[in-house]
Amino acid sequence: MLAEIKGLNEECGVFGIWGHPEAAQITYYGLHSLQHRGQEGAGIVVTDGDKLKGVKGEGLVTEVFSQAAIQELKGTSAIGHVRYATAGGGGYENVQPLLFQSQNGGLALCHNGNLTNATALKYQLEAQGSIFQTSSDTEVLAHLIKRGGVSSHKERVKNALSMVKGAYAFLIMTENEMMVAVDPNGLRPLSLGKIGDAYVIASETCAFDIVGAEYVRDVLPGELLVIDDNGFRSEMFAMASNISMCAMEYVYFSRPDSNINGINVHTARKNLGKQLAVEVPIEADVVTGVPDSSISVAIGYAEATGIPYEMGLIKNKYVGRTFIQPSQSLREQGVKMKLSPVRGVVEGKRVVMVDDSIVRGTTSRRIVTMLKEAGATEVHVIISSPPIKNPCFYGIDTSTKEELIASDRSVEEIREIIGADTLTFLSPKGMIDAIGREEEGETRGLCLACFTGKYPTEIYPSTLHPYEKV
Ligand code: SF4
Repeated sequence: MLAEIKGLNEECGVFGIWGHPEAAQITYYGLHSLQHRGQEGAGIVVTDGDKLKGVKGEGLVTEVFSQAAIQELKGTSAIGHVRYATAGGGGYENVQPLLFQSQNGGLALCHNGNLTNATALKYQLEAQGSIFQTSSDTEVLAHLIKRGGVSSHKERVKNALSMVKGAYAFLIMTENEMMVAVDPNGLRPLSLGKIGDAYVIASETCAFDIVGAEYVRDVLPGELLVIDDNGFRSEMFAMASNISMCAMEYVYFSRPDSNINGINVHTARKNLGKQLAVEVPIEADVVTGVPDSSISVAIGYAEATGIPYEMGLIKNKYVGRTFIQPSQSLREQGVKMKLSPVRGVVEGKRVVMVDDSIVRGTTSRRIVTMLKEAGATEVHVIISSPPIKNPCFYGIDTSTKEELIASDRSVEEIREIIGADTLTFLSPKGMIDAIGREEEGETRGLCLACFTGKYPTEIYPSTLHPYEKV
């Protein structure tokens, strides 16, 4: 769906490469393919084995890096980041990778996810004399690493990782090595690939295809990879526990050409559509999906029901970020500018409109109205996930509980607000089965907290006192 106007935003994407003469250029292409994970800032730090050097800025990848800037980033290894600003807010200083220089050399790091105990750790670190340059949760890890005493860099990183809680896929780089870590619950995806002898790391495997890398495997929950000129070594810094990959990665965030834990995202979405066909049989003339993430679901629903799939909604791909305005009325206008109904497809038809989720309800109401204004006689809305009733503390901006339309309303009340003829959400079990992960147990290795309120980790929301648990 249209992330910027919907109020459901991924926070970040990370990319790294070790041991390639065109490290910065490849990282640029990798970040470009991860642009859907964050459009508000981007950065690259390279190492030439002697020093770290970086370029970062606010805006899209193509806006931040000129070709000349990439040429200046000489080095054989790099880490990069695309950011959607939520935790800690926006601003240049919060754009990653964060780069620190000290007597012992440089340290660069970037992060996808959100640390749930960052505020509490910041209080402690500040009380012990730390001064933070940014308001981002990511900087906490840098301070913890630097304060780790005289032990080896790897031991200090492991020790720092043992103190942070929440969701993270970290890339940490010094002049001579890159470290890669995923939280013990495995909340955010991260994969390892290779281009020749060079190692590549990316939030999504779609980045491997763009840069010509071969997929090796996913980074495991609780795993620390150390990559240097001698290859890579793996060890567990923490026991994997209660594996909880974000279900919304499959439903909405990731690109359809990415694979997460061996499951292709497009295929998972088609299966969500097929499951919706089992749960919600509807008499209709056409099925249409809200671009981009719901097209795969709509195709699956159409295949399973025999109702023809049509392009009933077209996305204007050339509307830039400048059109995304914060106010409600302008946000609604933003929907109009980004989406258009295809009158020839929907006029006089009973339409099944497939979407991935409903956050505030504003976007859904606009789209239903648009389809009806274009002549649809009925609009049946089916959603490929359960109602979002709870905020996410793991790096997804799902708004506050008060802003979530499903937090205190029934499905019928939501249907009335968005003006649909019928509204159905996929059941939690239907979603879990359709995604089809191999893990055992009720959630089969998925986080479902925004639907169920059962968070896989302890939560310390910044709105509460930092030491108070919920
Ligand atoms: S709470 Fe929802 S959005 Fe957040 S990690 Fe869990 S499934 Fe994903």
